Amino acid sequence: MKIHLPINIQQKLIQALEKARNYEIGGVLMGEHFAEAEFRIVDLTVQKQLGSPMFFTRLVADIVKPLKRFFKRTGYNYRKFNYLGEWHSHPTFPPVPSQKDIQSMQEIVTDPDTGANFVILLIVQLKGEQKIEGTVTTFLKDGKFFKCQLITEKMI
Ligand SMILES: [Zn+2]
Repeated sequence: MKIHLPINIQQKLIQALEKARNYEIGGVLMGEHFAEAEFRIVDLTVQKQLGSPMFFTRLVADIVKPLKRFFKRTGYNYRKFNYLGEWHSHPTFPPVPSQKDIQSMQEIVTDPDTGANFVILLIVQLKGEQKIEGTVTTFLKDGKFFKCQLITEKMI
């Protein structure tokens, strides 16, 4: 599976990461299913409440409104535009899922309220000036998870 990260979303992430410095931040990802096994991240939320440097806590109440707005804006075309998963930063250690990350993603994907067959986790980190690097992992309902290809569209 391939996940595309367009430039405007990269910029939104960079801005949020710069502001958060050494604190983990995160939110939810909204995606567009535009080709077989290919998704584009078209919007995301940035949770205002910062976590500690070591963990990030998801606040469900914060994501309901942005998701509703997203569905309205995209004409309730859930097959094409839908909740895609979660993102957060690892400012001080490599952007790969921790044991705790894997556990919480498995809880989200098996939660009946999520209503998705899979969820992705994007973990990002600032890499020098105006650049981010990251990884994407897909989590399935049966407990399996695998790494996906993250395509960061290039800036000029
Ligand atoms: Zn993490």
